[in-house]
Amino acid sequence: PQTANKIAAGEVVERPASIVKELIENSIDGKSTNITINLVNAGKEKIEVIDNGVGIHKDDVPIAFLRHATSKIKDEKDLEKISSLGFRGEALPSIAAVSKVTLITRTTGEDFGVKYVIEGGKERLFDVAPANLGTRIIVEDLFFNTPARRKFLKTTATELNYITDLVGRFIMSHPHISFQLTHNNKPLIKSSGDGDLKHCLSEVMGWETAENSIEVDFSYENMTVTGLIIKPVLTKSSRSGQMFFVNNRIVKSSMLAKALEAGFNTLIPIGRYPQGVLNIQIQVEDLDVNVHPSKQEIKFKDEKAVFYLVKEGVENALKNKSL
Ligand code: ADP
Ligand code: MG
Repeated sequence: PQTANKIAAGEVVERPASIVKELIENSIDGKSTNITINLVNAGKEKIEVIDNGVGIHKDDVPIAFLRHATSKIKDEKDLEKISSLGFRGEALPSIAAVSKVTLITRTTGEDFGVKYVIEGGKERLFDVAPANLGTRIIVEDLFFNTPARRKFLKTTATELNYITDLVGRFIMSHPHISFQLTHNNKPLIKSSGDGDLKHCLSEVMGWETAENSIEVDFSYENMTVTGLIIKPVLTKSSRSGQMFFVNNRIVKSSMLAKALEAGFNTLIPIGRYPQGVLNIQIQVEDLDVNVHPSKQEIKFKDEKAVFYLVKEGVENALKNKSL
């Protein structure tokens, strides 16, 4: 199983940002309203995620590190109805296979928490410990036992960019959760969690972008697109100012990018890209999230309808606005 975990880890854990993503998703699934991410050396040395969620019961802690033991998928039908962000039960085992993990957690109703240490998939400590409600997880020495993979990590600046971009996307997809990100003890981003998307945008992309944002809220055939688009005065030379979420899950989709761009149609100069943050609410039956372990790729059963939804939503928002 150790080897299986190491191999699986390759699919889930590519770089520090992949770990941050899985840990934040777990905190969100655990109903946290406050999530703190502390990094040392862009997460290559240390990633710490602290949440105020439901915590993990002590009996469940070792099980959480067993591959697929916690899979929320019981049969084929469940696959179509995934509402939690994680569902394969392979993130924690994969992370623990290639790093040193310390988990400190306490659930409501327990006076004491537990501390669990696992290193390269080997349990090192499992003991009672004082703990706040919620979960604190520390991931150190990433790829210490797979030097080849360690060598492929990019510079601190690059790895940090991946993480700040990611945390920005979590902030925009979960405006009711308060996030804070620090790097080497320096605060980088924070969000208040007040639910106001414009406040979030201001924290993530700056006040000028937020000032120039326009609300999107449009429905078509059981689907809704909501969010903010940015006036054509603020374009970018890449698509870095575009974020897409499906049922609040961060996704990558060139189709959605093209739909956003089609909505702006002639308003954007050639070679430039419009900015926007859009969340699509859709019935889970109408999509398949299980395409890739990282869950970022998404497949809609009716791509054309979704394209139309987004394009129309953007056009509608731009209508009668001074641009
Ligand atoms: P998955 O998210 O696919 O279920 P993971 O390996 O990411 O699998 O997590 C395993 C299990 O550990 C989760 O199903 C959850 O029960 C528990 N867990 C992990 N992190 C947290 C957290 N921050 N808060 C509460 N429960 C957690
Ligand atoms: Mg998970």
